[in-house]
Amino acid sequence: MSARIPTAAMAFSWVLTAVLLLGLALAIAQGVTMRLDPPETGYWLNTATGVRHTADCVYYERTKQGRPCEPDEGLACGLCGG
Ligand SMILES: [Zn+2]
Repeated sequence: MSARIPTAAMAFSWVLTAVLLLGLALAIAQGVTMRLDPPETGYWLNTATGVRHTADCVYYERTKQGRPCEPDEGLACGLCGG
């Protein structure tokens, strides 16, 4: 005789699976968002030249290649003083 699984228990396991998958999807989505949107530090590093800019600089977040950086990374910009 095969064991009969009660419908309610089956429904519950499906809900549980759905919740787990949703949680996983959210975690992945959050990870992607964090990679695309790095935290702002107030300093911007032009990764092509290695020059660092402050938030007031015209080049802040405007170089073709770049990312937020720490105040001791790269070389200080001649305009804004990095
Ligand atoms: Zn600058």
